[in-house]
Amino acid sequence: MSVLSVRDLHVTYRTRGGGVPAVRGVSFDIDRGEVLGLAGESGCGKSTIAGAILRLLPEGTEVTGSVLLEGEEVLTMRPGRLRAVRWAGASIVFQGAMHALNPVRRVGDQIAEAIVAHQQAGPREAMVRVGALLEQVGLPPRRIDDFPHELSGGQRQRVMIAMALACNPSLVIADEPTTALDVMVQAQVLRLLKELQRDLGLAMLFITHDLSVLSEVSDRLAVMYAGKLVEEGPTAQVFHDGRHPYTRALAAAFPTIGDPSFRRRPSGLGGDPPDPQAIPSGCPFHPRCPEAFDECGRTEPALYDAGPGRRAACLLVRSALAGAAEGER
Ligand code: SF4
Repeated sequence: MSVLSVRDLHVTYRTRGGGVPAVRGVSFDIDRGEVLGLAGESGCGKSTIAGAILRLLPEGTEVTGSVLLEGEEVLTMRPGRLRAVRWAGASIVFQGAMHALNPVRRVGDQIAEAIVAHQQAGPREAMVRVGALLEQVGLPPRRIDDFPHELSGGQRQRVMIAMALACNPSLVIADEPTTALDVMVQAQVLRLLKELQRDLGLAMLFITHDLSVLSEVSDRLAVMYAGKLVEEGPTAQVFHDGRHPYTRALAAAFPTIGDPSFRRRPSGLGGDPPDPQAIPSGCPFHPRCPEAFDECGRTEPALYDAGPGRRAACLLVRSALAGAAEGER
């Protein structure tokens, strides 16, 4: 059984201007010990998926489909069970640790609080565990008494990672966890996350706009565009031999890790991703696709088989499949 199994997930934000469909039918699985990297430009729906898995989206947001965490449906969980599952079943590391940490409380107390709240230890025992957790993320245990402002950006992010691990979750969601850090620190924190994930056998959903980061940390790569998965498969294959033109554009624009201009235009493509309220007909990528042909404006591609363990949503992949089937006859 997969640690996380997402099926046909749809998320629509409610605004005064009407519904904004941010995620439009996404399915994927993550097994124990596996890292799935989720890539795509800003606004493609990546972080919305993270919010949907932990039910952190604004009230009134419409979420349908299924999110099974170790076989248990999250979308219909009662509030008490949901509180228990957050942190202990699945936890999240956000981009900006300064905003996620309480500035007027010592970091050790904040981590211990999560451990005690989830009844994993009493207050004294929890503090011992916090010291061990800080060591595990490469911080001296004496930093337990520090306030967030006494730590550097990289150290705060290490505290966030310690907090995410505090209740022994089976799934960690890392949502742009290193984007706010400078290049050197980013590389250190990435190495730490990868080592911990491997040592603890965690399932991890790693979300970032930066394909170069995912090429280093993920086992499988999923690329999103306009609220849908457009390609999925083993990381090295997707990265070096993308079947979808959008994936190839992202990979060709391989950036220097941490380059801020890449964040704004990570695909190297002209134009912008579509407004979720005005998604083009046919293939949503066709207005920007260098390989678009007539049918692309009329037919929306499904995810087609694109090799062992691979899928891609492009009509060219469908044609290649049909050609291969014809050749076998
Ligand atoms: Fe490009 Fe057409 Fe493939 Fe869409 S279906 S990615 S427009 S070639």
